[in-house]
Amino acid sequence: MTDWLVPRMRPHRATIFGEMSVLATELGAINLGQGFPDTDGPATVREAAVRAIREGRGNQYPPVHGVPQLREAIATHQHHWYGLAPDPATEVVVTTGASEAIPAVILALVERGDEVVLFDPHFDIYTAAIALADGTCRPVSVLPGTLRPDIDALRDAVTSRTRLLVVNSPNNPTGIVYTPAELAAIAEIAERTDTLVISDEVYEHLWFDGHPHTAFATLPGMADRTLTIGSAGKCFSLTGWKVGWVTGPADLIAAVRTVRQHMSFVSGGPFQWAIAEGLALPDEHWESERRSLQARRDHFTTGMSELGFGVIESEGSYFLSTDVRPLGFTDGRRFCHALAHAGGVVAIPEQALCHDERDGAPYVRWALCKRREVLDEALARMAAALPGLRRDATEQVGDPLSPAGG
Ligand SMILES: *Cc1c(COP(=O)(O)O)cnc(C)c1O
Repeated sequence: MTDWLVPRMRPHRATIFGEMSVLATELGAINLGQGFPDTDGPATVREAAVRAIREGRGNQYPPVHGVPQLREAIATHQHHWYGLAPDPATEVVVTTGASEAIPAVILALVERGDEVVLFDPHFDIYTAAIALADGTCRPVSVLPGTLRPDIDALRDAVTSRTRLLVVNSPNNPTGIVYTPAELAAIAEIAERTDTLVISDEVYEHLWFDGHPHTAFATLPGMADRTLTIGSAGKCFSLTGWKVGWVTGPADLIAAVRTVRQHMSFVSGGPFQWAIAEGLALPDEHWESERRSLQARRDHFTTGMSELGFGVIESEGSYFLSTDVRPLGFTDGRRFCHALAHAGGVVAIPEQALCHDERDGAPYVRWALCKRREVLDEALARMAAALPGLRRDATEQVGDPLSPAGG
């Protein structure tokens, strides 16, 4: 078979999310791999979409940069929560989910060879988009053990060749929320090196007690150099709707708009109207979503600790990260495959989201955004399967493929 794919995209052929979801389907396993909720978002927002379709709002091409009512609602939301005041006419662009926002920003700003700095493990769309732009990715490993951003390593990685720095807090896949001190240090690096920042804040409302989200653009000097990405899918548990946005200074948004209009042109007409209504929901809506996820986090965290995993506290996002070494494993990928087959539960090995697989080797990501019964069933299955898996792991000591193979 001829391989027609351009070489720069060949390393991106398979995604770990696709691979593990196929495995979950094949085995009939519980899929705690892919990060989508198993209950649909607010009925009022879903009804608003039905109404928009019935009333003929958005059934034809909406305005190219987004329905004005939605851009207005995004600006109002940024102001209400963060005191930011983007101009809906020039400083907001609606995208086909945050998944389109990311390549639109990178293709608009990154020239061949320009460097983009991000933390490993990373959300995979970033590296694919950097490859599309023919840019150069400069990964910085998070601190082993805590999975927190390594600020000193970041300081070394950001240079005059850096065009963009990616910040993602609450973080996918680690579940870490950056502290004000970490964010201030990152901002200082961006300022000193005159680097632009993408702040991926799709989990802005999904942080847990004691770890509030800070919008990066609110840090001193950052509003002028930051493009902030949001996602209605993540805000409202409606990941299939694919409505996202970018906000930032008019000159940067103008560049993003130019590229993005040639990607999907427009999408999700009626959904845009519905999300405009959703963004105006009272504060209690966001608080109750947050609390609901936090309760499931608490429950699943306790269960995972009791099973013997090393748990890295989830501070936000849809995810919990664990270390499999206390269970006798060294390699997360091998662990995930063994667990899928023997235990019927699927998770994501974080090493697949690292440039150097050794970095994420013992860490595994679990989706918390599932119904409590589903999390309980996963815990029960693991309780049954782990003793056998641990025995196998012990017998594998001395295996030439350990620790980084498989
Ligand atoms: C889910 C996710 C996205 C993509 O969001 P969509 O709106 O579903 O396209 C972008 N960034 C991160 C970190 C995510 O977890």
